[in-house]
Order: sequence, then structure tokens, then C-alpha cells
Amino acid sequence: MPYAYDDDNIFAKILRGEIPNTTVVETEHTLAFEDIRPQAPVHVLVIPKGRYVNFDHFASEASDAELADFNRVVGEVIRKTGVAPEGAEKGYRLLSNAGVDGVQEVPHFHLHVVGGRNLGRMLQPG
Ligand code: 5GP
Repeated sequence: MPYAYDDDNIFAKILRGEIPNTTVVETEHTLAFEDIRPQAPVHVLVIPKGRYVNFDHFASEASDAELADFNRVVGEVIRKTGVAPEGAEKGYRLLSNAGVDGVQEVPHFHLHVVGGRNLGRMLQPG
């Protein structure tokens, strides 16, 4: 099934400059910005500038340049926000919600970079 991208989603509006954001890193293909409702002291969203709905869409259709750039930006965000593990201290979690079961709110692929406190177990018991 082809991926249907909604150009009215909130991150598309951010990319078009119609809604402000607090940028952490920006490159040719990627934007990283602060989540508006942070769930930890560090909560940054990393998005490709291309029209991708979720991770599997991005992974299958993005160019090598977009894929590489996205990953480099994630690493840069981790270092820049100070959450990269140092010995027995610090650390972070990366997660991406997709679709109904993933409870994805915004239908533009994004990776959450979360840290700055102990994040506990990965998932709540279902
Ligand atoms: P999802 O549930 O789709 O994985 O997460 C969407 C995230 O986008 C949420 O953490 C939410 O707080 C964030 N978000 C929603 N609207 C905005 C917005 O207008 N600006 C920013 N910076 N973050 C937003």
C-alpha cells in the first residue's frame, strides 16, 4: 500500500515555517527541535525534511543521503544535549511511534530523543 502523506500535519507546517520551533540542529535534509510537551529534561524530535509518514516509509524510500544525514543529526543531538552515556552516568532513549498501535500523534516520521533523568522501564505493562 502506498504511504499517504498529509501535508497539513503539524510538522509539515513547522518545516514550511508556518509554526515556530526551537531548533537544536538543522541540516539540508533533517531538522531537530524541542518537543513542545517534554516528557523528560531532554526531549528532542528529529525529523527528515522529506515527506515520510513513519520509519518504515523513511527506511524504504529515503535516499542514502537523507538516511545518513538523519542518523548523523541524531548523534549530534545526543552529544549536544549532553545525554551521551559517560561511564555509569547519563544515557538516553530513542523511540518512534507509528500507526494506531504505536499511538502516533503526528503523521510525519519523527524520532524522539529523550534523556536527562532515569527513564525507567521501556514500556508500561499492557
Ligand atoms: P507522537 O505521539 O506522534 O510520537 O509524538 C508527537 C510529539 O509531537 C509529541 O511528543 C508532542 O508533544 C509533539 N508535538 C505536537 N505538536 C507539536 C508542536 O506544534 N511543536 C512541537 N515542538 N512539538 C509538538
